[in-house]
Amino acid sequence: MMKINRRDFLKTTGAASAVGLFGLPNLALGATGKVVVVGGGTGGATAASYLKQLRSSLDVTVIEPNEHYYTCYMSNEVIGGVRPLEGILVGYDGLRARGVNVVHDKAAAIDPDKKVVKTAGGQEFPYDRCIVAPGIDILYDRIEGYSEAASQVMPHAWKAGEQTRLLRGQLEAMEDGGTVIIAPPENPFRCPPGPYERASQIAQYLKRHKPKSKVIILDAKAGFSKQGLFIQGWERLYGYGTDKALIDWQRGPESGVVRVDPDEGLVETYFGDQIKGAVINIIPPQRAGQIAQVAGLADASGWCPVDVKTFESKLQPGIHVIGDACIASDMPKSAYSANSQGKVAAAAVVMLLAGQEPQTPAYLNTCYSLVGEDYGISVSAVYKMAADGSKIASVPDSGGVTPMDAPDWALAREAAYAHSWYNNIVADTFG
Ligand SMILES: Cc1cc2nc3c(=O)[nH]c(=O)nc-3n(C[C@H](O)[C@H](O)[C@H](O)COP(=O)(O)OP(=O)(O)OC[C@H]3O[C@@H](n4cnc5c(N)ncnc54)[C@H](O)[C@@H]3O)c2cc1C
Repeated sequence: MMKINRRDFLKTTGAASAVGLFGLPNLALGATGKVVVVGGGTGGATAASYLKQLRSSLDVTVIEPNEHYYTCYMSNEVIGGVRPLEGILVGYDGLRARGVNVVHDKAAAIDPDKKVVKTAGGQEFPYDRCIVAPGIDILYDRIEGYSEAASQVMPHAWKAGEQTRLLRGQLEAMEDGGTVIIAPPENPFRCPPGPYERASQIAQYLKRHKPKSKVIILDAKAGFSKQGLFIQGWERLYGYGTDKALIDWQRGPESGVVRVDPDEGLVETYFGDQIKGAVINIIPPQRAGQIAQVAGLADASGWCPVDVKTFESKLQPGIHVIGDACIASDMPKSAYSANSQGKVAAAAVVMLLAGQEPQTPAYLNTCYSLVGEDYGISVSAVYKMAADGSKIASVPDSGGVTPMDAPDWALAREAAYAHSWYNNIVADTFG
């Protein structure tokens, strides 16, 4: 019989909850009221779905401008040409089938005194508790010459959909021999391993179709998530470190991009080097989504401080903030984290509406990255709240990373886990 270790167990449970949800409905029988969820992305959709699963009598409304959602997760496969854009598209019928009222409008303001969410379309939604999950805002003005208009020439593709299509189209149109530039931001930002998975997926495409081309990563950071594993993968698959390398990672403050010229198709680094690219992917710094700023949920860092037991805002009582927008200590800004936080927040809201003390939660995250076909790597952890409630901290030895020098079969298994995780989290979140 095959033995399963703790790490594999964690991974095969995928998006399963670690907050003891099964016991909760009995404890929270008195829960009643209206919950308004702002943002129907990964965090918001999970929270809404689990609120209804925990307490079907709750009146749960999600406010989300878009009629469809493109997952950023697996969007690097779209950019690499191994998955169509439709392969990351999900709708809201599943959420509606779970009894959630989905309204396609944009939240324009939240009045914490009157407890009302106001929309750009002029609607008002009163709430007993509000959950805000708006994801990120792209800070277009942090790099000279960059702007929302410039992102039509130098896409960020850090919100999936049209930007993903644009970057993919540029790679397809590029002649063999072209240089692809990726400029990742400084921490913290959405999906820390994402730029390096993107470099890998693009290199795989170039190796197969445009082998005289290459990817240059211009990185202000000196290191990144799963760095040793990525570099080993790049050495094995893309000649990293040789003069035939398909990926060149230039690191450190002097390598960071400080200016772009979309007309000339060039970027300038901190030290004044000007580099031309046939395709230029600028990933600017980020902050919590605009509504979090407008509603007074974000602090000077641009992100939202929360009570990590319930995800209730430290700045606006009665409003919970989850997903990329919140400050969740050690947890990375990932879909897995947003899903886990959505469950914790839903459970807390149900308890609070019943006039009961929320349980002490546990939280999960696994970040998979696809370095190549049949070549996956991952990092996973279980997190607990610190005893004094001040932060979310990873539990020692609870997870782990793919070992260095892993054999091909193990890396292929990681890639299969990554794809199965994707299917599971989409089903868990959106139904
Ligand atoms: C290239 C890339 C690859 C990634 N790969 C992975 C991966 O492999 N694994 C992983 O776990 N994570 C991955 N991520 C990260 C993941 O996509 C995010 O962490 C996750 O989507 C965060 O969820 P969220 O709910 O906070 O935000 P989102 O999923 O972005 O949802 C926010 C929603 O709020 C809506 N919204 C915004 N403002 C308003 C408003 N005013 N009113 C109403 N609605 C509003 C938006 O339309 C959006 O639908 C990746 C990200 C990128 C960019």
